[in-house]
Amino acid sequence: MANGAAASLQFLGAAGGVTGSKYLFSYGDDQVLIDCGLFQGLKELRQRNWAALPIDPARLRAVILTHAHIDHSGYLPRLVSKGYKGPVYATPGTCDLLGVMLPDAAHLQEEEARYARQKGYSRHSPALPLYTVEDAEQSLTLLRPVRIGQTIEVIKGVSLDFGRVGHILGAGSARLSFEVNGQRKTFMDSGDLGRYDRPILKNPDPAGSADWLLLESTYGNRLHEKNSEIELRDLIKETVAQRSCLIIPAFAIGRTQDLIYTIRKMEDDGEIPAIPVHVDSPMGLEATEIYCRHTEEHDFEMQQLRSKDNCPISSHKMVVHKTPEQSKSINQLKGPMVIISASGMATGGRVLHHLKHRLPNADTTVLFAGYQAEGTRGRSLQDGAKEIKLLGEVVPVRAKIKVFDGFSAHADQSEILRWLGTFKKAPQMTYIVHGEPPAAAALADVIRAQLKWKVEVARHQQKVALT
Ligand SMILES: [Zn+2]
Repeated sequence: MANGAAASLQFLGAAGGVTGSKYLFSYGDDQVLIDCGLFQGLKELRQRNWAALPIDPARLRAVILTHAHIDHSGYLPRLVSKGYKGPVYATPGTCDLLGVMLPDAAHLQEEEARYARQKGYSRHSPALPLYTVEDAEQSLTLLRPVRIGQTIEVIKGVSLDFGRVGHILGAGSARLSFEVNGQRKTFMDSGDLGRYDRPILKNPDPAGSADWLLLESTYGNRLHEKNSEIELRDLIKETVAQRSCLIIPAFAIGRTQDLIYTIRKMEDDGEIPAIPVHVDSPMGLEATEIYCRHTEEHDFEMQQLRSKDNCPISSHKMVVHKTPEQSKSINQLKGPMVIISASGMATGGRVLHHLKHRLPNADTTVLFAGYQAEGTRGRSLQDGAKEIKLLGEVVPVRAKIKVFDGFSAHADQSEILRWLGTFKKAPQMTYIVHGEPPAAAALADVIRAQLKWKVEVARHQQKVALT
C-alpha cells in the first residue's frame, strides 16, 4: 500500500440521535470500529441493539472507545458474544471505568430478560439478555490501554492517538492517521466534548488538526446556565431550613463525583452547613475510587486538595450505601438530607425506589442535574407529568421538580465553538453526530456562519469516502 488504501466511514449509530455511537472506519480490506455504544431511550431505538450490524467480524481488526459511557461502550459485550476477539483500545481511565460499567450493564440485561421471562412479554422465547456478565468479563480481557498523547498503530498503516476533552475521567477524542493517495491524512472523532473550568478534571487540550472531523452536538443548540452551582447552594440551604429531602438522580460516573466534590467545596467554604449526603450507588462509589486513583487527570485544585486528603471526593457528612438493605433504610430517614443515586435520567437503578417513596411528598425536591433524553422518566417529570409509573406502580407526583443543566458533562454551543477554535486549520469536512436533529442542525448552521467550515449532518447508516 505504497500510496495508501481507500478509506471510508459509515455511521452505524448516534447519527440522527444521541445514543448508540458506532462509526465504522474501513481502510483497504480492514475495518476499525470507533465507539461501540448501546442505543438507549425510546423502544424503537433500543430495538436496534438486536439488529445485526453490517460488520464482517473477519475484517474487523480493532475497536476504539472514546470513553466509558454506555452509549459509547455498552455494545462491546454483544460484539464479543458475536465472535469479536481483537484488541479494544481506550485510555487507562476508560479501561478502569469499563471494569465497573460493562459487568453492571450486563447484569441489567440479564435482570431485564429474567423479568420479561416472568411476565411473558418477550418476543424471544425464552427471553434472552442482549449479553451476559460472562460476555462483559470477556470484553474486559480485550482492553489495551493507550495513554492520552501516546501514538500506537492499530492496523497496518493506521495509527491512533487520543486527545484530552474533559467530559468524564478517561474521555478522549480519537484521531486516526493514515495515507490516502500518497498523502498523510487524519480523521478525528471528537467523542463527547467536555467543558472548561469544571471540577476535578483538567480542561480539554487544544484539538490540533484533522482532515475529517466527527463532532458531537448534544447541546449544539443550547447554552448552559451559568449559575447552577449557586442554584444548588440555594436549594441545599432551603433543604436544611425546611428539614426536607433533596433527591438528585445522577449518573454514577462523572455527575456523582462532580456533585459530591461541589457540595464538599461549598461546605469547606462555609457557603452551606454540612448536610447528610446519602450516596446510594455502588457503582458511583467504585467510580469515585477510580477518579481519585487517576491522578494524571486531576486539575490543579484537585491536586491541591489531594495533598490534604487522599480522596477529596467526599463531603463532610457523607454516608455511603452499598447493600440493598442499606439503600432501603434511607426510606425511614427524615430530612434535612440529600440523596444522590443513579440513574441520571431515572431509567433504572436504585433512584427508582427513592422516587417511588418520595415523589408523592410535597416537601421533597427532585433535581435532575443534566440532559434528560426523550422517552425517559426524567424527561416526563421535567415536562410536568402529574403521575408516573415506577416499579410497577402509578405514583402521583407532588414533589417539586427542578432541572439544572449547568452540571452537564457536555460542552454547550459556545464551548464546542471554543474547542473548534483550537484547530490549526479547518477540516476539509466536518460531520455532525450525537445530537437530536434540531441540535445537530443548529450546530451545523452556526459553524457554517461563524467559521465558514464545510459541514454536514450525518445520517444513520450513511457511508462516506475519505478521499
Ligand atoms: Zn459521554
